[in-house]
Amino acid sequence: MKRFIIYSAVLFGCLPVFSQEKTATGFTGQYRVDYYPDRKMNIYQEGKALMLEVVGQGKIELLPVNKNTFSLKNIPHNNIEFIPDSLGNTKQFIWLRPPTKANWIRIPEESSPDNTGQSLQNPDPYSGRYSLKGGRYLNILVKKDSNNLTFQIPGETVLTLIPLGKNSFIFRKGAFSSTYEFIADKEGRITRIISTDEGPVECSKMAEISNNSISSKHSFVKRSGFTEADTLMGTLSPLRTCYDVQFYDLDVQIDPDVRSILGSTIIRFKAVNDFKIFQIDLSDKMNIEKIVFQNKNISFTRKFDAVFIQFPDELKQGSTGEIRVFYSGKLPVPDISSLAGGFISIQDRNGKAWIESVVQGSGASIWWPCKDHLSDKPDSMQVNVTIPQGLTVISNGRFLGKTELPGKLQRFQWFVGYPINNYNVVLYIGDYIHFADEYAERTDRFALNYYCLSYNEEKARKFVQKVKPLLRFYQKLFGPYPFPRDGFALVESPYGMEHQSAVSAGAYTNPSNDHALDTLELQRMLWHESAHEWWGNSVTCSDMADFWIHESFASYAEILCYENFYGREAAQKYINENIPENKEPIIGFYGVNDFHMGDMYSKGGRMIATLREAIYNDSLFFSLLKGIQSRFKYQSVSTEDIIHYFNEGTRTDYTYLFDQYLRFAAIPKLIISKEKAGKDLDLRYKWKADVPDFRLPVKLLRGDSEPLLIYPTTEWKTLHLTNTKPSALIVDNTHSYFDIQAE
Ligand SMILES: [Zn+2]
Repeated sequence: MKRFIIYSAVLFGCLPVFSQEKTATGFTGQYRVDYYPDRKMNIYQEGKALMLEVVGQGKIELLPVNKNTFSLKNIPHNNIEFIPDSLGNTKQFIWLRPPTKANWIRIPEESSPDNTGQSLQNPDPYSGRYSLKGGRYLNILVKKDSNNLTFQIPGETVLTLIPLGKNSFIFRKGAFSSTYEFIADKEGRITRIISTDEGPVECSKMAEISNNSISSKHSFVKRSGFTEADTLMGTLSPLRTCYDVQFYDLDVQIDPDVRSILGSTIIRFKAVNDFKIFQIDLSDKMNIEKIVFQNKNISFTRKFDAVFIQFPDELKQGSTGEIRVFYSGKLPVPDISSLAGGFISIQDRNGKAWIESVVQGSGASIWWPCKDHLSDKPDSMQVNVTIPQGLTVISNGRFLGKTELPGKLQRFQWFVGYPINNYNVVLYIGDYIHFADEYAERTDRFALNYYCLSYNEEKARKFVQKVKPLLRFYQKLFGPYPFPRDGFALVESPYGMEHQSAVSAGAYTNPSNDHALDTLELQRMLWHESAHEWWGNSVTCSDMADFWIHESFASYAEILCYENFYGREAAQKYINENIPENKEPIIGFYGVNDFHMGDMYSKGGRMIATLREAIYNDSLFFSLLKGIQSRFKYQSVSTEDIIHYFNEGTRTDYTYLFDQYLRFAAIPKLIISKEKAGKDLDLRYKWKADVPDFRLPVKLLRGDSEPLLIYPTTEWKTLHLTNTKPSALIVDNTHSYFDIQAE
């Protein structure tokens, strides 16, 4: 997956929450932004916490500052202040925050051939479409409308901009303002906008609200403060290693209107050793009606999200059994501040429900009972979902059929014929249409299924033409597609995700209107999420701390795709634009389900590019990528497994390389000094790195001569080069990721 983007409350960018000890019923309700009525927000109570939800996007907890003021959890310097009227009723709140900047990149017309219907009459230097950097769902249209310049998320409120200065405009409403500074390139063409929102955002209550939803007791974004709940979720205790899951049969009924879920899961298992108690996982916000074993109810206890099941007799090693957990609850709302997942739930252009479960990190147990640990995948799985007629459910694997049920209901059955990790199990619910194709090359055949919203067929049919060339490319790089019996499906959805054999690159048009999203960005999402079929879905990490195995290889696959489909320059441009933060190690804490996104994407991708340079033998490097896929197919692996595999395959110890990039925040720095000795040159060099034996080879470019490889260590070395000018010698870090410091 990629990061959650909040294109929130206001035009973009931020979102908060509040919680308090006393009940805050006076504050709860449905609100909307006064200057931007398309942006709706809910304030509601969740246990003792007060929550702010940006409708369709997610929620955040509000922490009390004083009687009427709340801060946003994990989002500093943002306050929500409720304004009571003379009768003491709250009809309004003000969101106070520091000036918020956003960067909008102009979308070149030629890069988005699908984006029709926005032909710009009276073009002026500013008119055009721009997309929010880092938030591909947000396209804006700048237009000259009679004499005014306007700014609009297509289909939503039009804001009129007043000139402020050269290339600078402003929108004002009360004390709130939004400044748009248009930036020109050397030729004077406007290429981007820097917008700055300033001042309080006023929101008015539209309606009261009923309470629902969940809160998180996990510490996804507070890496120093893990809780017992995190340990129960993340640790492979004897209560979890004592059994191996073989099969899940999920059977639930969902009512999208009230966000309810009701049903059961059968968990079939094999005893790894003798035991009488084992642990499964299910969010403590879900009710468990009963758990049935051999036709009898059995007893269980719960602690946070762990459920401890007490069997009447000891189960013997090697024996198999199954339990059925009957449960009910509310579909969880994604939590923005803690990165906890849930059901993204929006409306399509026709007002129909459009829902997607996205639970990477928080785990599947926030909505169905399972052994929620990455180390244990079932061998196969069945997913049965009952919903009201008029909508379609898409899940993983093969579609087995649909049954009409009394009460205007229908039941969809899906079957996954391969091991699947829990967070990949998905429900997409919406007004979908389907069309099919086949991937067929020599003996290599599997089904291709495409699902899109009913009104996006034309766009989908065009976009899916990218799928076959991509799968061909990935099979060449990584080996056979891992799930041929299930086929490969591409599903339009609110949020791009790697859901196994039902991948999504996101939405094809802005969900609130007919406006197409940037094609190149959609394509990049397709590259990324599809690469996960190999990296993440087939080969899975065994602890959340090692999640880089999913994201770093998928990010590296993006670079390879740029190179393959658009050339080296495009790949380099993409690398240069995605600068890692280098603030914390990529590897997280083990045993606590430590989900943090951080640098595992761009830095992880560049680490693999660096490894390729270090190996300096492309046929070996790519045969090793394929080798990982065949050696660890359908399995869960650790960082050590991957490092060991590369070391063995190259007969070289690259532990130093993985350790530096994965276990430390900083990247290595090559310190060099060039000293002239007559016509000759003495080059002195050494590594500055956290790993004491860091020894990445480095390539030197010398004009037209062959590149020269040097082997720096953390001790100074000297290379004497005859007849060489200092300027003629360049350290090449185009493909390897390190800094250079000249002494
Ligand atoms: Zn990903």
